[in-house]
Amino acid sequence: MKNKIEHSKFDVENIRKDFPILSRKVNEKQLVYFDNAATSQTPQVVIDAIVDYYSNYNANIHRGVHTLSQEATDKYETARQKIQEHFNAKERHEIIFTSGTTHSINLVANGFASILKPEDEIIVSALEHHSNIVPWQMLCEKTGAKLKVIPMNQSGELVMADFESILSNQTKLVFVNHISNALGTINPIETIIEMAHQVGAAVLIDGAQACPHIKPDVQALNVDFYVASAHKMCGPTGVGMLYGKEEWLNKLPPYQGGGEMIAEVTFEKTTYANLPHKFEAGTPNICGGIAFGTAIDYMNTIGFDTIATYEEELLVYATHKLLEIEGLKIYGTSKYKTSVISFNIENIHPYDIGTIVDKLGIAVRTGHHCAQPIMDFYNIPGTVRASFSFYNTKEEIDTFVNAVKRAAKMLT
Ligand SMILES: *Cc1c(COP(=O)(O)O)cnc(C)c1O
Repeated sequence: MKNKIEHSKFDVENIRKDFPILSRKVNEKQLVYFDNAATSQTPQVVIDAIVDYYSNYNANIHRGVHTLSQEATDKYETARQKIQEHFNAKERHEIIFTSGTTHSINLVANGFASILKPEDEIIVSALEHHSNIVPWQMLCEKTGAKLKVIPMNQSGELVMADFESILSNQTKLVFVNHISNALGTINPIETIIEMAHQVGAAVLIDGAQACPHIKPDVQALNVDFYVASAHKMCGPTGVGMLYGKEEWLNKLPPYQGGGEMIAEVTFEKTTYANLPHKFEAGTPNICGGIAFGTAIDYMNTIGFDTIATYEEELLVYATHKLLEIEGLKIYGTSKYKTSVISFNIENIHPYDIGTIVDKLGIAVRTGHHCAQPIMDFYNIPGTVRASFSFYNTKEEIDTFVNAVKRAAKMLT
């Protein structure tokens, strides 16, 4: 054994060569990137796909007869097919390109504004990201519908008995994230979907935090809507997806008006284009969509089982090492969680720890992680959050733990 620390068979050193940014220095120290839950890093193949688009076939899609436009259209639609296959959607037109998870959620919320009545209810979970709370509050204001919340417990898990008691025939929609970005909890979405369907409610799952770790099967889940962002799964920013069951997408009105989304326009009446174009007004992020497809290919080449096994190893190792630090408390201790560790050290503000470890080249997130209700629940201003990806190593975790120890010593 050359290394003092043993890794699984997974060849992380080789994988790291795919990510140019991982070799840079920050504050004269080797970068340790542990902010993967905010955005993932980008492998060379995805960077190449972006450069290739702008170097060789940049053109607007769908409308052109010329060669470049056809090439761009083919690549864009091939990317849609890759997304369809990855999520196992039944139809390719059930995949809508969006600018990301937030856009996807707003698209669905806007659609339900024309469906909901004042006596209807929407259920969200206490573990939501702000982007999964605000659109529903706006929808309730517009329609008069009521917002109900599935509470959480100290371990950062949803209280399913309480979900059962707030679920009723008035429930029209249930919105839960697959994995919490603040705590890493994996929610029991299979059960949630089944229970919601029993009262006739539709379910939207926010998969932004799950898709870097898990390969969801939307047909097996029988979920009505599933959303994700490319930038959390090795793709570029500004592009994401919405999966919707065909019958739901046909029921919802378009979100934005414009080019691409119409079949026929006169000043008297406009008829909308078929799916998916009905929801894709204007020129989309063509390059981003294509690079999203490349990112999905890249992750599938590594394999989601391999990723899950290795990240679990990192999570267990880091949890164990961090808990050796005196006064350190981890928030989110569910048995079912991904490689996210949110923590605080007694009497030290998370921001101060974040600032000191940055000086040592380490990127972590501090604050409320767009999930203020969770912080309120624990009665804390925020946490330090370290989130690991398959390209991180145990050596990096050692560097991080030593840096946290140093910070704790300086701040107490
Ligand atoms: C990151 C994240 C979002 C928001 O994604 P955007 O790409 O910023 O739109 C929503 N929900 C969860 C759980 C997230 O982790």
